Amino acid sequence: MIFPPRVQSLDKHCFIKTFFIKPDSISIFKLTFALMAGIYIHIPFCKQKCTYCDFHFSTTYHTYRKEMIQSILNEINERKNEIETIDTIYFGGGTPSILEINELDSIIQSIRSNFECNNMVEITLEANPDDISTSKLKKWKKSGVNRLSIGLQSFKSFDLEWMNRAHTVEESENCISIAQEEGFNDLTVDLIYGLPQLTLKEWENHIQKLIDLKVPHISAYCLTVEKQTALSNWIKKGKIEPAKEEMQSLQFELLVELLHRNNYEQYEISNFCKPNHESKHNSAYWKGEHYIGVGPSAHSFNGKERRWNIANNSMYIKKMNESEDYFEKEFLSSNDQFNELLLTGLRTKYGVSLKKLQSFTQISTNFNDKIKEFKKNNWMIEKDEVLFLSQEGKLMADYITSELFIV
Ligand code: SF4
Repeated sequence: MIFPPRVQSLDKHCFIKTFFIKPDSISIFKLTFALMAGIYIHIPFCKQKCTYCDFHFSTTYHTYRKEMIQSILNEINERKNEIETIDTIYFGGGTPSILEINELDSIIQSIRSNFECNNMVEITLEANPDDISTSKLKKWKKSGVNRLSIGLQSFKSFDLEWMNRAHTVEESENCISIAQEEGFNDLTVDLIYGLPQLTLKEWENHIQKLIDLKVPHISAYCLTVEKQTALSNWIKKGKIEPAKEEMQSLQFELLVELLHRNNYEQYEISNFCKPNHESKHNSAYWKGEHYIGVGPSAHSFNGKERRWNIANNSMYIKKMNESEDYFEKEFLSSNDQFNELLLTGLRTKYGVSLKKLQSFTQISTNFNDKIKEFKKNNWMIEKDEVLFLSQEGKLMADYITSELFIV
C-alpha cells in the first residue's frame, strides 16, 4: 500500500509551520549562498477559527489592531540591515486580506523605504474568498500586490461548513474570475484533499474547476489532524470519521495525474504550476535562501541561524514596546544542515546534490547502499549527480528522507 506524503500540511505557509516552528523539530534549511532574499509578514488576525487550523492568529484583534501594525512597522525598521535586497514580499497569516488598505500600504511602504527592493519584486497577499471584491482588488493592485494566494480549500458546501470557513461555495467560484478580470494573472489557489466524505469524483471536479478557470498555480494539501483543534476533538469523540489513508492516497495520485495531463508542472510535492508561474517566494525557501519573518510567530533564516518570534500577540507588542527580545534563535548544527538539504531538495524539482550530501562526514555507513536501493526500487533518480524523487518516490517521500536523515 502506498500512502500520500504526510509531510504535506494544510496551508500554503504550512512549510513554515511544519518545518520552522519547533526548535526541537527536524530543521530543513540548507546553507547555501543566498541568491535571493525574501520578507515574510505574518498578519495574526482571522475572522473566525477554522476547525482544523493550529496556526497562530487571533479573532479578537479589534482592540489592539493599531498597536500590532505599529509593532510590525517597528520590527521592519529594526531589521533593515539584515538583508540588502528584497526580491519577494509575502503576506501570510492568519488572514492578510483582512487588513485595511492603509494598513497594507503602510507595511509595503515601510519595506520599500527600509530595504532596497528589486524592480521585479514579487508581492504575494494571501486572501480568503469572502474578502475578494472588485474594489479591494483594485486597491491591492495599487498598493503593489502582484500575486494573490487564495485560500479556497473546497468547492463543496458541506466541507466549507464543517471546516468553519468564512466563505460560501459561490464566493469560491466567483473570486477567481473577479481576480482575473482585475488583472491578477499571477494567482495561486489552495485546495485540501483527504477530507472526511470527500469522494474521488468530487475531488476530481474541484481540480477540474481550477483547470477550467485557467488558474496558473495550485497548492494542494492533504488534511492533517493537528492536536488541540476542534477537528481532532471531534475525531476523538467519534463525531467525525477521518478519511481512509487509501482514499487520501488515491486523491493525491489523481491530483498529480490530472494536473500533469493539463500541463502543470509538479515543482514541489504539493505545488503545481504552468510555465513561469512558480512562487518565487516559496521556491526561495525550498532552495535554502535567506529571508526574514516579521510579526508574531514568524521565522527567519540567515544561512547560519534560525530565529522565531514569540507566538503571542500581546506579548509581541509588549516586548516590541519595551525593546525586549521578542524572539529565540538557534544555530544550525551540521546534522541539521544535512537533514534540511535532503528534505527541501528531495521535495522539489531542483533535487539535491549527491556530492554535497556525501560531503557530510556524519552520514550513515549504509547511506550509499540506501541510495542504491531507492534507485533500484525506482523511487529515486540520479541525473548529473543530482538526486530526485520519481513519481512513485514522491508518494514515499517521508519514508525515504527519514531513512537517510542523520539523527
Ligand atoms: S483562515 Fe487560515 S489561518 Fe485563519 S483559521 Fe482559517 S486556516 Fe487558520
